[in-house]
Amino acid sequence: MATQPTPADVVVIGGGPGGYVAAIRAAQLGLSTVCVEMDRTLGGTCVNVGCIPSKALLDSSHHYEFAAHSAKAHGIGISGLTIDVATMLKRKDDVVGQNTKGLEFLFKKNKITWAKGRGTLRAGNVVEVEGPDSSGTTSYQAKHVIIATGSVAVELPFLRFDEERILSNVGALTIPSVPRHLIVIGGGVIGLELGSVWRRLGAKVTVIELLPTILPGMDDDVVKEATRVLSRQGLELRTATKVTAGRRDGDRVLIDVAKDGATETLEGDYVLVAVGRKPSLNGIDVAALGLNVGRRGEILVDDQMRTNLPNVFAIGDCVPGPMLAHKAEEEGVVAAEAIAGQSAHMHYRSMPGIVYTWPEIAAVGLTEREARDGGREVRVGRFPFSANGRARTAGEGTGFVKFIADARTDELLGCHMVGPSVSELIAEVVLAFEYGASSDDVGIIVHAHPTLSEAVKEAALGALGRAIHI
Ligand SMILES: Cc1cc2nc3c(=O)[nH]c(=O)nc-3n(C[C@H](O)[C@H](O)[C@H](O)COP(=O)(O)OP(=O)(O)OC[C@H]3O[C@@H](n4cnc5c(N)ncnc54)[C@H](O)[C@@H]3O)c2cc1C
Repeated sequence: MATQPTPADVVVIGGGPGGYVAAIRAAQLGLSTVCVEMDRTLGGTCVNVGCIPSKALLDSSHHYEFAAHSAKAHGIGISGLTIDVATMLKRKDDVVGQNTKGLEFLFKKNKITWAKGRGTLRAGNVVEVEGPDSSGTTSYQAKHVIIATGSVAVELPFLRFDEERILSNVGALTIPSVPRHLIVIGGGVIGLELGSVWRRLGAKVTVIELLPTILPGMDDDVVKEATRVLSRQGLELRTATKVTAGRRDGDRVLIDVAKDGATETLEGDYVLVAVGRKPSLNGIDVAALGLNVGRRGEILVDDQMRTNLPNVFAIGDCVPGPMLAHKAEEEGVVAAEAIAGQSAHMHYRSMPGIVYTWPEIAAVGLTEREARDGGREVRVGRFPFSANGRARTAGEGTGFVKFIADARTDELLGCHMVGPSVSELIAEVVLAFEYGASSDDVGIIVHAHPTLSEAVKEAALGALGRAIHI
């Protein structure tokens, strides 16, 4: 006799930043909660093969680069500098392990059931979970379902991932020794971050981008500065260049590229394909369920993350919007609170975006071009880190903060930064943005001296023509 599905208030399919946060918030609100995750660990792309391991490698390689090139200026002499890639990778794995263990602890603390295995959503909000290693199938009758199945890397038809030489982010995080020549296809965030890791350690890195610039969609001044700085660091940036074919030949990869009618074959020992990610609909039979999806397979939702199916919500990389962990997390909170009957709703106006190269890049709001194209008359304030005392003490004078305000009302429209630790500095501007601040509001706030954050104040004052230190 078939066993009856176990009842649950909420079943979340996927335990990434969207899913685990939704599960924790639902449990906090007193709902009995199950989270289905098929991976060996919780945390999804972000914790296992995305944000966290990439930042661990970026930190390690940044220290190496400092020791190799910048320590001398501080009077620090280092001889016999080496890089032990195995230790660096183990450290990265340990950092990931600390995070995944932390999530297991949070699940226990909040009495969330982790249903280990692959979940399939059936009609009537039944979720079947096929356990690992033929351990059998269990099923849950959910009052509410949250789909948080994330995304997967896009493959090129002629370069199927083997994760040995033809790499997605997964393989690029485990290259066992410094490559001679890493070819990166895609000049977006992931390509530039992972390319930077291996370039800092001594690899030749060539980035091929189809569009006329790297970091498409970011503010023009930021793209210009990032292009200048990253090229100077040694990344070979080939823009407006098309990859027409590619193949693996033993331990080599051969990549055919074309630009302005001229063709060339690049030879490397690895190729990282970072041309984007697409929503994952693993376990979600869109046609059978009658679920509404968009052109790229993204699940369509309203501002409370409801799909067209009764009591079925969707969040994170599998719904429209930027594929970012913090976006997925906020959507998870909104879905859980909506299920609990609260009035939460999602908006994307103040969603920061960061690139963890060094210098870092951070942005929130409109680019100058978007603001002008949208018919706004704007005032721009720009303050360089070369004029900031704290940046000088750290030897980090590259980059700037750019403030864009409405010329008539002084409303803050956007802020874009290239520079040291701007991933942290942007938080102040996000707060200002969220509360509808003006550049005057930010400019009159006391900022401690000497700090990098003074560059934010000065850029805000700059939009009013009142910057002091420039
Ligand atoms: C290299 C890299 C670096 C990144 N760096 C950053 C960064 O610095 N900052 C940032 O904000 N974002 C970053 N991202 C993006 C970020 O990782 C994603 O936006 C985020 O992980 C999305 O969260 P999610 O919960 O929607 O999906 P995911 O994290 O993809 O999680 C989905 C989970 O669902 C599970 N799953 C799928 N289908 C099923 C099923 N049927 N049954 C059971 N389980 C299932 C998967 O195993 C997975 O664990 C990075 C991504 C990459 C690849």
